[in-house]
Amino acid sequence: MKTVFLETYGCQMNVADSELMAGVLERAGMALVDRPEDADAVILNTCAIREHAEQRVLGRLGDFARLKAANPELVVGVAGCMAQHLRAKLLEKRRVLDLVVGPDGYRRLPELLRRAAAAPVADVRLDRDETYGDLEPRRERGVRAWITVQRGCDKFCTYCVVPFTRGRERSLPLADLVRQVERAAAGGCREIVFLGQTVNSWRHGDDDFADLLRAANEVDGVLRLRFTSPHPSDMTDRVVAAMAECGKVMPHVHLPLQSASDRVLEAMNRTYTLDGYRDVVRRLRAAVPGIALSTDLIAGFPGETEEDHRRTVDYMREVRWDSAFLFKYSARPDTKAFRWPETVSEDEKGRRLTELIELQHALSGEIHDALVGTEEEVLVEGRGRRDDGQLYGKSRTFRTVVFGDDGSAPGTLRRVRIVGATPVTLIGESVDAPRPEPLVTIGG
Ligand code: SAM
Ligand code: SF4
Repeated sequence: MKTVFLETYGCQMNVADSELMAGVLERAGMALVDRPEDADAVILNTCAIREHAEQRVLGRLGDFARLKAANPELVVGVAGCMAQHLRAKLLEKRRVLDLVVGPDGYRRLPELLRRAAAAPVADVRLDRDETYGDLEPRRERGVRAWITVQRGCDKFCTYCVVPFTRGRERSLPLADLVRQVERAAAGGCREIVFLGQTVNSWRHGDDDFADLLRAANEVDGVLRLRFTSPHPSDMTDRVVAAMAECGKVMPHVHLPLQSASDRVLEAMNRTYTLDGYRDVVRRLRAAVPGIALSTDLIAGFPGETEEDHRRTVDYMREVRWDSAFLFKYSARPDTKAFRWPETVSEDEKGRRLTELIELQHALSGEIHDALVGTEEEVLVEGRGRRDDGQLYGKSRTFRTVVFGDDGSAPGTLRRVRIVGATPVTLIGESVDAPRPEPLVTIGG
């Protein structure tokens, strides 16, 4: 077993887990390859959050079945949340599979791959203590490093499969995390994003999330710090104060609300009311002027009435999030809500979702239009995919900004004047283009 092709689905946490797996595999002498055709083993790192995510992976397994028909030695594995969710059933259902490995089995991956070459293997033990804190991920080169600070989730929102696929909440020690931030900075990363399902509930010993932000703020080479996703109930005054006082913590928070109806929030077990959420928004906006906020919302949760939906629509107009991830409710086996009758038809869910999408599009457009004429500080990430002479990067508020290529290197900060906007992108021109180095310096 020498070469592995790794494909990632789902959230940033999965992208970070793939980097962890890549580190484990490389240390075991295996090489990551870019094409499944060149691999001795392929691993799909999967997501189970909505049914659609699982369907995509099952479809992709069809491609690997064809590859395996041509190369019967190929080992095919499924890792991550879907592996944990469907467990050994996956091995039975999909003959193409040799390996099923859950999120707490990655340390054993090289050995599991070798065993799977001989006979199908499933390793879906959840481990309350596994944090991988001692393992160095193989990070993709880039200006941004995603660092997992916490694994699992204890919140048990009634719609969500994560506590079942990723197990109990565990935090990595502060010292391990500071070391990871230092390594990422030494490797050229300029922006660090802390990851956790309820990242602001991070706690290790006497240290809480505010202490973690303050410690990371001291690391040389890091220009910007972000985190995702905080839970509204864990947004303590200490965390808000750390955000306000740490110069490197950027003024943007992704703060999932899910629904603006208290009845629905209670049925979801979100542990806050709309007024509670309003209070978090008020404290954040007071402490961090100009802070941008984004959110997640679910349309068509069991029992959601038209009136509940209208509350969400009205609150969108009130709070004016910068952007939002909007989902149709998807019933997930194992969760509490799975046992409840679905009261909103697929058509109606679709109608509600479309209304939310259209409204958010309009609001994001208004917010972006108002930025035309202002200046943004942009962390340059590189050339756009279309390579049309444009550079792109993120503003302090995590808005995507594109501007004419002025020779700025990735990882540098530029001041950019905003000259145009769409609901998803700001268009600008750099006002402090780097001056070319003089070829000869004359005089002293
Ligand atoms: N832990 C994060 C939090 O609570 O904010 C988010 C985790 S989840 C990967 C991201 C989003 O997926 C959630 O905020 C929720 O809006 C959505 N989601 C989770 N389960 C869902 C389901 N069964 N149907 C539809 N959307 C779901
Ligand atoms: Fe899922 Fe809720 Fe945990 Fe987020 S906080 S991962 S939505 S259970």
